[in-house]
Amino acid sequence: MPKQINHQIVRRLKKTSRVLSVIISMVGFFALVGWQFNILFLMRVIPKLPIIAPNTAMAFLLGGAILFLAGNGKISKNAVLRIFSYFSIIVILLLGLLTLLEYIFKVSFGIDGMLFSKVQGLAPVRMSPQSAFNFLMTGISLLFIFNQEKKTRIKIGQIIVLLTGAVSLLSLFGFIYSIPSFYTIAPYKGMAAHTAVAFVMMFFGILLAFPEHGFVRIFSSRGLSGLAARRLFFTLMVIIFGEVAIAGGREIGLYNFSSEALFHLAIITGVFVYLIFFAFRSLDELGRMETSLAKTKELDRAKTEFVGMASHQLRTPLTAISWYSEMLLSKDAGELSLKQADYLKEIYTGNQRMIDLVDDLLNTSRIDMGTLKAKPELISLTEVMDGILDEFSHQIKQKNLNLEKKFSRNLPRVLLDPEHLGIIFQNIISNAVKYTQPRGKILVEIRKKNSHVLVKIADNGWGIPPGQQKKIFTKLFRADNVRKRDAEGTGLGLYIARALVKKSGGEITFESKEGKGSAFYVTFKV
Ligand code: ADP
Repeated sequence: MPKQINHQIVRRLKKTSRVLSVIISMVGFFALVGWQFNILFLMRVIPKLPIIAPNTAMAFLLGGAILFLAGNGKISKNAVLRIFSYFSIIVILLLGLLTLLEYIFKVSFGIDGMLFSKVQGLAPVRMSPQSAFNFLMTGISLLFIFNQEKKTRIKIGQIIVLLTGAVSLLSLFGFIYSIPSFYTIAPYKGMAAHTAVAFVMMFFGILLAFPEHGFVRIFSSRGLSGLAARRLFFTLMVIIFGEVAIAGGREIGLYNFSSEALFHLAIITGVFVYLIFFAFRSLDELGRMETSLAKTKELDRAKTEFVGMASHQLRTPLTAISWYSEMLLSKDAGELSLKQADYLKEIYTGNQRMIDLVDDLLNTSRIDMGTLKAKPELISLTEVMDGILDEFSHQIKQKNLNLEKKFSRNLPRVLLDPEHLGIIFQNIISNAVKYTQPRGKILVEIRKKNSHVLVKIADNGWGIPPGQQKKIFTKLFRADNVRKRDAEGTGLGLYIARALVKKSGGEITFESKEGKGSAFYVTFKV
């Protein structure tokens, strides 16, 4: 079963994605301003590190904007935004692809100096191979997610952006631990520092834009698993960024190696203490949940037992009423006036309905308690079906229904509990009669199919709404179209029927079209 989503967390993560997208666009924007007005700081932030290329800045400006719009869900609703996004993604893709080709084939397409050709005597700056690769991946990822059409597209987009994340995190660590081979590919220069940071933000931004889909879903799921995923991820981030900050501090001469080692130890100890507390609290919570689940189950069982006992007690007086009414109606105790007979018929049918309900309750409680016992014998399905159809003959005539029977000859007998089989047929036939308009048609077919006997009960009645078909075997469920018409029913019939079919080792399926009709298929092994 898919995990439930915590919508509050989803909203928070989406917000984080939007904030990141704005920062990404700002990085691009300010770098372009740096190029325009020769402000070297805006172009590289950290002295000695490479300069951000104008094309990189442009791609970030556009990429951040698309991510913002995609996360907001605006693009799919607005044609102008869609065209803008397509155009921008193509620009990002082309910038990445063409630059990569320039590196691979050692050529120049003249795209590097397209926006700004020279600054402070520097030749046109080309983005690094890693940036070019990252833009290619980011562009493809954005292409998959920006329109929010399908979950699978979002999942693919998330997987592709993992590559961007890997390359940029590697560069970032390269800067901090002074390992140039992590952020440069000799003989070319590497990524600028803020380029790497912006790519890391892009990576998180894309993943968090749709936290309810793909593998990111685990972080927004409800309950302990979601909480654990979020906490563990948080500790991972604390470790990564803590370690990086500690190494950075030593790198710029704040302290020596031995202090650094101490700080590492402190961070690992802190994280472990935090995790131990979290594990304890989670286990406590789990224990509490288990206790309350056990209590709920116990209560549920007590309720079911009570319903079973009450139905059992009701059955005897109701049956007595039925017998005495029948006796009176058949004039065993003398003549009745017309009015008396009418009243008595009302009592009899009302009582019959109560008996049906009590039987349903009794069967449901037996199913739920697991106390249902079957007494199988070799029986003829057609004989049982004929008996049930006889019971309904009055209603079928009253509704003017056209009943067609198609029973194959020489059907084998089947080892089944006749009472259970009667209940199964009764429930399905009663639905076909109840949920078909007057002068409608009912077909009852019994034939052999391979090593099974197939019983088909079809009608051309109201049918079942498509969105509710999955639920019709659920206890107490009644579809909306049936409720609206207010036909009698409890929503227990098919629940019981399915349990009894299963108990008999058979199978029950159906097909239905709203307004056209339904067909139920029951198969039993011969
Ligand atoms: P009920 O007491 O409401 O008939 P059931 O468990 O027998 O309860 O059936 C569950 C629901 O399935 C019904 O309420 C109805 O919405 C739907 N259903 C079952 N059989 C049919 C049918 N032949 N035609 C239309 N709807 C049906």
